[in-house]
Amino acid sequence: MKAAIKEIRAPKSIIITEKKIPTPNDDEVLIKIKKAGICGTDFHIYKWDNWAQHRIVPPLTIGHEFGGVIEKLGKNVTKYKVGDRVSAEGHIVCHNCKSCNLGNYHICDNVKIIGVDIDGCFAEYMVMPASNLWLLGNHISDRHAAIMDPLGNAMHTVMAQPVKDRNVLITGAGSIGLFATAITRSLGANRIVVSEPNSLKAEVAKKIGADEVINPLEANTYQKVMSLFDSHGPDVVLEMSGVSSAIELAFNAISKGGDVSLLGLSDQQISLDLNNQVIFKGITIRGINGRRMFETWHQVDEYIKNHGNSIEPVITHEMPLSNINEAFDLMANNAAIKVVLSI
Ligand SMILES: [Zn+2]
Ligand SMILES: [Zn+2]
Repeated sequence: MKAAIKEIRAPKSIIITEKKIPTPNDDEVLIKIKKAGICGTDFHIYKWDNWAQHRIVPPLTIGHEFGGVIEKLGKNVTKYKVGDRVSAEGHIVCHNCKSCNLGNYHICDNVKIIGVDIDGCFAEYMVMPASNLWLLGNHISDRHAAIMDPLGNAMHTVMAQPVKDRNVLITGAGSIGLFATAITRSLGANRIVVSEPNSLKAEVAKKIGADEVINPLEANTYQKVMSLFDSHGPDVVLEMSGVSSAIELAFNAISKGGDVSLLGLSDQQISLDLNNQVIFKGITIRGINGRRMFETWHQVDEYIKNHGNSIEPVITHEMPLSNINEAFDLMANNAAIKVVLSI
């Protein structure tokens, strides 16, 4: 089968190669991949940044967002049949640690992520534990199946606190920030302001539900944000960028009693003025990791059923797996947002 692998420990080095089709064990299924989404994580692996250097062991088949069809069943698998269309939660958990026992699978102590720790989905076939599968109804196309995972990150972040009738600031409009904008809009938020320096992403943010988009690289960002929220600041901040200036803006602007949910990963330590930015303001801070299994998947499935078209502007490109390096080039030049690969 054809697979896109990170070949060696160096920047770029993503090649299409021939690999043996994997064999499912008794509790797994073999999936023929139809479409797969390129994530920021894949781009980190492509760039070979600090995070990738410490986590990725090449050669590795990358990719973790997909839709496909079950081709073969392990002998213990009874819940699915050959021909079922599926996506899957890419975090493979141990079912054994304290978090798993508490039903918090998304923060399992022993998580293995497909396309990061083990072979992923940028390949014609992949094996997956049956317990990770999500059965696709006819209302979900392969194209949308391929973005359920990041849509889930966005859903998990938005659902962490109420947003209805509240003022929301979303910092960072990569695909997850944009999905979060659309979901927040659908849930009846009052005013949504997005901060995003890239003009393509800013344009899509407006299309997808933002009332205002501000460029955080321009002067007086804080004053602008405060004036857009009638000087009280936002009730909710969804931090999707991991950029230190955006995090600083989030905690300066958040209204008293507000909620800050942090999804963006930062590459440095961030300092907070706990007294003035957190304690005296009485705010709630949440760290958001992955998707709740499978509460978030139910919410995403329902969202696509009712609002599937709303996310279309985020998917800027669809191309064959063989063009994967072209996709990374577009991402490097900020000329693409979500790229879906046809496998
Ligand atoms: Zn992803
Ligand atoms: Zn666990």
